[in-house]
Amino acid sequence: MEKVRFGKTGLMVSRIGFGGIPIQRLSKPEAAAVTREAIDLGVNFIDTANAYGDSEEKIGEAIKGVNRDRLIIASKSTATDKKTFLRHLDLCLKRLGSDYVDLYQTHNVSSPETRDAIFASGGAFEGLTEAVRQGKVRFPAFSSHNIPLAVELMKTGLFASVQLPFNFVDDAAAEEAIPLAKKLDMGFICMKPFGGGLLDNAGLAIRYLLRFENIVPDPGIEKIAEIREIAAIVNENKPLSAEDEKTISGLKSELGKWWCHRCDYCQPCPQGIPISSALTLRSLIKRGDFDFVFRLASAGMEKARSCLECGECVKRCPYKLDIPRLLKKQITLWEETLRARAG
Ligand code: SF4
Ligand code: SF4
Repeated sequence: MEKVRFGKTGLMVSRIGFGGIPIQRLSKPEAAAVTREAIDLGVNFIDTANAYGDSEEKIGEAIKGVNRDRLIIASKSTATDKKTFLRHLDLCLKRLGSDYVDLYQTHNVSSPETRDAIFASGGAFEGLTEAVRQGKVRFPAFSSHNIPLAVELMKTGLFASVQLPFNFVDDAAAEEAIPLAKKLDMGFICMKPFGGGLLDNAGLAIRYLLRFENIVPDPGIEKIAEIREIAAIVNENKPLSAEDEKTISGLKSELGKWWCHRCDYCQPCPQGIPISSALTLRSLIKRGDFDFVFRLASAGMEKARSCLECGECVKRCPYKLDIPRLLKKQITLWEETLRARAG
């Protein structure tokens, strides 16, 4: 598989990465088989996180016996304080069976509060700097769902790479963040290339992303067939036809009516409803087993029932989503999920 230069890190990264979220659902041998298949197909970039259950551990098992120099591994910590952040990093190294990780990301820096906590005295960024100095981390990095905030962080020059959601529906990063990454010579990891499992035409989704030379799409992989299909699309690298463009544009306008971009501009909700989490429930359901989904979603979905239909959130949503109506649909989906679990 073709490799591309990952910004100023100088790392040569495969044209797509291996996202480590879905392997949480697999047994250890299954996770090892799918990870090894990706590596055999030429994927050398693996992205995981402390927050992805046992993903780091399963990747560690899978790469036993693989020359560590062949792989570029990225992980993340959501901790905003130095002590927990460094504890997560040490655990990551232990689980991976490695004495370094190539990229370590402050995970989901999407609000000004998180940004301020990370950069406070005793915050996670101090830990990240220390870890780079000690050689435990080769390059400091961050991930976010908030594009303006990410752009601000990119401009600080403190990070070697950024990870943001990007696909042909959720394409706001194309305006400023992707060109800026190129200008600043930063790596760009493209999160949610399939919209969290909502874009089911892998060919269209990947071929759209391959137009952007300086990004590394990072699809979550659960099955050997999936990584084989994606690798074949990447290797063929067939440009989009006029017909494909038309299909993309139709899908974009159709899905755009209900697609939540997780920007949280709709907040605050007087009822405390975690709107973006509720609206992206389907993507969460695709990510983990029922216990994982239940743990993360049940409180928020119960709160969603208390929506007053006041419309305050709709006024603030830049995409003018009909949030009260969408919440009702999500409650139905939640009830179906609970029934499926019970039955
Ligand atoms: S319409 Fe519902 S979700 Fe939106 S702000 Fe009002 S109570 Fe919250
Ligand atoms: S509902 Fe609208 S404002 Fe709220 S997170 Fe989703 S896209 Fe953003």
